[in-house]
Amino acid sequence: MTKIIRVANNITNIIKQQRQIEHMAYHDSLTGLPNRSLFKDRLNQAILHSTRNHNSGVIALLDLDKFKQINDTYGHAAGDEILKTVAHRLTLSVRESDTVARMSGDEFLAIFHHVTDHNHAKILAQQLLSNICQPISIGNKEITIAASIGLCFFPEQGTNIDELLKCADKAMYTAKETGRNRIYLTTNDSNP
Ligand code: GH3
Ligand code: MG
Repeated sequence: MTKIIRVANNITNIIKQQRQIEHMAYHDSLTGLPNRSLFKDRLNQAILHSTRNHNSGVIALLDLDKFKQINDTYGHAAGDEILKTVAHRLTLSVRESDTVARMSGDEFLAIFHHVTDHNHAKILAQQLLSNICQPISIGNKEITIAASIGLCFFPEQGTNIDELLKCADKAMYTAKETGRNRIYLTTNDSNP
């Protein structure tokens, strides 16, 4: 009987470890958000779904403004805390069915499903921006950050992951170039 219990415990531990390994493969270790791989998988599903059902969605690429300066001023550990807070606030800003991911460094992505209207897309992005721009308490300091967001519709602005990420990247850089702390939406009429 004890042998059976020991074997069962070992199996449970192996399953737990496998789940942990799977989680680590698809999530960012600092913030716990989905990583680039999982994001791409979700985006692929979203594109297929929207094409099949003739509806649209939006991807938002958000890059923190002057984050190197934040690290230099307050230290890398404070920078890490800010990244974790941003991740948490972004998650709270979207519906449960939407996705927020950390792409790399200070760059985050969100997928909003079932959005067709330009104003609606801008309102959703503005909500992300307003939430992350609230002061963040680190030790006895209050730090305020800002970000630039590029928005692209799918499948209108891209029917595959690479096209869409390129589109969102261009839009985000337009937001940076035109002053930062703002949103730039790519439409079929614009040429960012
Ligand atoms: P910009 O407004 O042009 O985006 O300026 P920036 O200073 O934010 O520059 P950029 O986005 O190119 O650089 C991101 C910086 O984020 C680079 C690095 O110092 C910092 N960074 C990247 N990963 C981490 C991390 O895991 N923790 C911390 N604390 N900082 C990170
Ligand atoms: Mg940045």
